[in-house]
Amino acid sequence: MVARKHSKKRDAILECICSTKSHPTADWVYSQLKPQIPDLSLGTVYRNLAAFKSEGVIASVGTVDGMERYDGNTLPHPHFVCTHCNAVIDVEEIDPPQELALQVHCGSVRDCVLTFYGICNQCVSVDAQ
Ligand SMILES: [Zn+2]
Ligand SMILES: [Zn+2]
Repeated sequence: MVARKHSKKRDAILECICSTKSHPTADWVYSQLKPQIPDLSLGTVYRNLAAFKSEGVIASVGTVDGMERYDGNTLPHPHFVCTHCNAVIDVEEIDPPQELALQVHCGSVRDCVLTFYGICNQCVSVDAQ
């Protein structure tokens, strides 16, 4: 009974991460699920996210403004981080990092992280007004 309840929370947390492209924080996941799962604690969210990460079910995009950001898409892909609003956006218009990795000959590549930093289009257009 207890185990089933635990896995229900686990499923909800995983589904929450995988249903968004916003690369959420643990706090965001918690605030999304709390209304549906009143006995959910932030600690449970953190513990499950850490477990998913070590199992390779989700990926971490790294820390943006002191908060770790998670990604339901575990295939290596480049990101754009807005230093103004802290948005983390998937960069779909360039070749995936795997193709760059093929050009590396000093060792066998296991992972490649490519992140661009700048001001996102939304912040640029707000500033222009
Ligand atoms: Zn922005
Ligand atoms: Zn992503």
